[in-house]
Amino acid sequence: MVLKIESVTKRFGHFTAVSNLTLTIPEGEIFGFLGANGAGKTTTFRMILGLLDSNEGKISWDGQPINYSTSHLIGYLPEERGLYPKLKVSEQVVYLARLRGMNKKDALKELAHWLDRFKVPEYMNKKVEELSKGNQQKIQFISAILHKPKLLILDEPFSGLDPVNVELLKEAVIDLKRNGTTIVFSSHRMEHVEELCEFLCIMHKGKPVVHGELKGIKRNFGKKNLIIHADFPLDFIKNQSGVTKFKTTVEGANIQIENEDMAQRILKDLVGKGVIRKFALEESSLNDIFIEKVGASYE
Ligand code: ATP
Repeated sequence: MVLKIESVTKRFGHFTAVSNLTLTIPEGEIFGFLGANGAGKTTTFRMILGLLDSNEGKISWDGQPINYSTSHLIGYLPEERGLYPKLKVSEQVVYLARLRGMNKKDALKELAHWLDRFKVPEYMNKKVEELSKGNQQKIQFISAILHKPKLLILDEPFSGLDPVNVELLKEAVIDLKRNGTTIVFSSHRMEHVEELCEFLCIMHKGKPVVHGELKGIKRNFGKKNLIIHADFPLDFIKNQSGVTKFKTTVEGANIQIENEDMAQRILKDLVGKGVIRKFALEESSLNDIFIEKVGASYE
């Protein structure tokens, strides 16, 4: 069941929030949407879910638009978190699960399983308002996945969580993928997308500036990073052709080069000049790619 976004545009008055977006989100994969604030991620998710109509284009899942008849197959963690503060966790989550077609017994069993897994079994009968914001987010995540959706849309699932909880959620996302769920999520953090996704889209001002398979995106980018630690000056490398960036560090230099061959040439030049403690050739990161394509960094 492939999710297809075809030439989709969304305008709010004269402002274009999403511009001619075409993407295919393969079944059973984790697909990451990256972009700065206001890039158009949430708007895209709302259109996928049928909560907002596009002005142009078409979105389909397994050939059909997403609507009430398919809602039990979809899980959604919205960007605006919101649970009923006065309700107990169990009442709340079971209520939402029943709306998605689960019976109470199964919902309670699944909830107990997830609370255990998220290391908060004692929350079952606590009121939502008694939980910290991050822990409320975990409960809302559980609500989004309890009915084992086939398509899961997570708007900034990791924001506001401490590193331990980020890991717990990441592991859950990976397990859901293993069990066949297609997952679409947004993030401001490149490393989350880099770690979880084989497919991604970087959005900038409503437009997809880079999209596709991470491996292919990196291959097409071509450039590599060379990390050198040495006890002699490395400045002579700076102006060589094929060196696209050069940054002096405490231990040596971080250098961006056009291709791998360049690294071999640099290595030859270094030999005999002194002690080299590190010479490492690394793939470009998504952050490098973002900086080049969008002209700014998040970090
Ligand atoms: P963030 O990372 O901050 O959540 P985002 O990538 O999710 O950003 P969107 O929420 O999709 O971005 O917003 C895209 C643009 O559309 C923004 O400039 C926003 O102000 C505008 N926008 C979104 N919803 C509306 C609306 N209902 N009316 C007018 N403008 C809107």
